[in-house]
Amino acid sequence: MAKRDYYEILGVSKSATPDEIKKAYRKLAIQYHPDKNPDNPEAEDKFKEAAEAYEVLSNPEKRQRYDQFGHQGLGGNGGYSGGGMNMDDIFSQFGDIFGGGGFDSFFGGGRGGRRVKKGTNLRVKLKMNLKEIANGVEKKIKVKRHVIADGVTFKNCSTCQGSGQIKKVVNTMLGQMVSASACHVCGGNGQIVDKKPAEADIRGLILKEEIISINIPAGVADGMQLSMSGKGNETAGGVPGDLLIVIEEIEDEVLQRNGNDVIFELYVSFIDAALGSQIEVPTIEGKVKIKLDAGTQSGKMLRLKGKGIKDINGYSRGDQLIQVNVWTPKQLSKDERQILESLQNSDNFKPDPGKSEKSFFDKMKEFF
Ligand SMILES: [Zn+2]
Repeated sequence: MAKRDYYEILGVSKSATPDEIKKAYRKLAIQYHPDKNPDNPEAEDKFKEAAEAYEVLSNPEKRQRYDQFGHQGLGGNGGYSGGGMNMDDIFSQFGDIFGGGGFDSFFGGGRGGRRVKKGTNLRVKLKMNLKEIANGVEKKIKVKRHVIADGVTFKNCSTCQGSGQIKKVVNTMLGQMVSASACHVCGGNGQIVDKKPAEADIRGLILKEEIISINIPAGVADGMQLSMSGKGNETAGGVPGDLLIVIEEIEDEVLQRNGNDVIFELYVSFIDAALGSQIEVPTIEGKVKIKLDAGTQSGKMLRLKGKGIKDINGYSRGDQLIQVNVWTPKQLSKDERQILESLQNSDNFKPDPGKSEKSFFDKMKEFF
């Protein structure tokens, strides 16, 4: 889509002064503001288009580049390819255009006044071991949250008459406008504490210790954040905040996690590897016996299907992978040395990695 000329968008001439540009943008911003044009994507596009044009033409350096090279001149740094500016950028720009409190206080109602006051969120860390992660677990968490004390009553704020807003008429370049800002007495709630017990604070809140029970699904990972809506701090005249639970994985001493799989490094003696053996290995659910075939090579990977971690979506379960390492004795007794020396020249003991022995890296590729 061809981009429209910025001067054309703002309806000003190429020789417009910064003040003329500002005035022109202000008019458009008011005309196409989302609060005045709810659910009107066309107005929103125009609003964004005007903001972008202003962003460039109000900046002497960008304006000069634009005059010289057109939209091309703004490519990369400072250019707006396709997506344009986002709403937050635009609104933050308004402080400059509309003075002091920005657009919200200029027009009142704070973006349509749809905001519901919400208590603050609480955040707790929760340590989980591998077994709990593998299967999911119900945990009881002790939290201290602010709740509205028993016996607290509220009344309408007299400063704002319960509206939560203070309006005043201001004179602007575009004539008189009503400006509204959040009431500084009630913080925008419209309600203040009337009667309260002595232990409650000025907001009517007390700190209460609660035990909250939560089901943690299987398959969570370190740093993951779960949210329990409404279990955060309460606030007068609003809804409670959320309880955020941040998962901390306790590293297992023997099993290593790799996604939904767990890896165990098994060390076996050369004798066991050569003769074959039954060997006990730890898993998430306790020890199990596995069979080691005679002639097992170091580096071989064994798979215990379904012995890993349940997927967080609940559809599948990972495996346990066992990497076999053959242990070489570090010291030998005289007798041991003699026995091994007697075998040293046996053809059977000479390495012979034929084609059937995949390299370590091929095996890794196969497994992950
Ligand atoms: Zn008030």
